[in-house]
Amino acid sequence: MYSVNYHRAASVNEAAKLIKSGDAKLLSGGMTLIPAMKTRLAAPSDLVDLSRIKELQGVKVSGKTIAIGAGTTHHEVAADEKLKKACPALAHLASLIGDPAVRYKGTIGGSIANNDPAADYPAALLALDATIATNKREIGADKFFKGLFETALKDGEIITAVTFTAPAKAAYEKFRNPASRYAIAGVFVAKGKDGVRVAVTGAGDDGVFRSKEIEAALAKNFAAAALDGMKVPAKNLMSDIHASADYRANLIAVMAKRAVAAANA
Ligand SMILES: Cc1cc2nc3c(=O)[nH]c(=O)nc-3n(C[C@H](O)[C@H](O)[C@H](O)COP(=O)(O)OP(=O)(O)OC[C@H]3O[C@@H](n4cnc5c(N)ncnc54)[C@H](O)[C@@H]3O)c2cc1C
Repeated sequence: MYSVNYHRAASVNEAAKLIKSGDAKLLSGGMTLIPAMKTRLAAPSDLVDLSRIKELQGVKVSGKTIAIGAGTTHHEVAADEKLKKACPALAHLASLIGDPAVRYKGTIGGSIANNDPAADYPAALLALDATIATNKREIGADKFFKGLFETALKDGEIITAVTFTAPAKAAYEKFRNPASRYAIAGVFVAKGKDGVRVAVTGAGDDGVFRSKEIEAALAKNFAAAALDGMKVPAKNLMSDIHASADYRANLIAVMAKRAVAAANA
């Protein structure tokens, strides 16, 4: 074992001060950070625990505007009754993450800060054109997700909430790895007042991305049949032990069709 200084922050302001100590890291659900520390992929000198900060918790639905605190767990997102009415696709997505232990501890803020290329929330936030609020600024999802495990966050910057406008129609479908439940390919489709946005996770070799081909087809006709014969290019898709790039390209089209059918149901 090596020693770590543990700090429990009571507010975002206090966390912002504490994160300046040594080589500190923010801790939310610990579902990613603690395993990384156990395997020495991360070795912070200090941990600043955000999990007791009240202002980071909960889902607020006000008309069509939805705000989710960064410290809200996947389980809380999945179970929120107002969210289930305003944006059922996002609640459903949260219910598909990992297993109950992961859902009861893991948080939306931790998930998007980590930006795992197979994580579910990045696809939703990109397709919903969400805004990510931090203790310093607001960042649009198109600018926030920058690549594999890379985001626009600066050192010590704390995500406080995500906000978006409820779409008219949306759905998420993922083909999941049966062991980890991470996406081998996951597609979130959203139809809102500014058009159709489609984001893909689990498949891109540079992380989450928008599928311009599928968006163009659905902009003309938001129906599963509009994707009949859709060929998604395999270029820039991941090949690994789970699936080849060609297989993932096919999966993206299949998941997109299923998502549109679900959104229209
Ligand atoms: C077995 C298993 C299965 C999983 N399956 C899935 C899955 O199917 N789909 C999926 O999407 N994910 C999956 N996950 C990941 C899970 O969703 C984690 O909850 C998530 O990746 C990290 O969230 P966390 O709250 O635990 O963050 P932590 O592990 O505490 O932190 C992760 C990173 O984010 C930073 N951070 C945390 N909070 C903030 C904040 N507010 N502001 C800025 N930085 C912050 C931390 O410093 C750290 O670098 C799985 C994890 C496990 C262990």
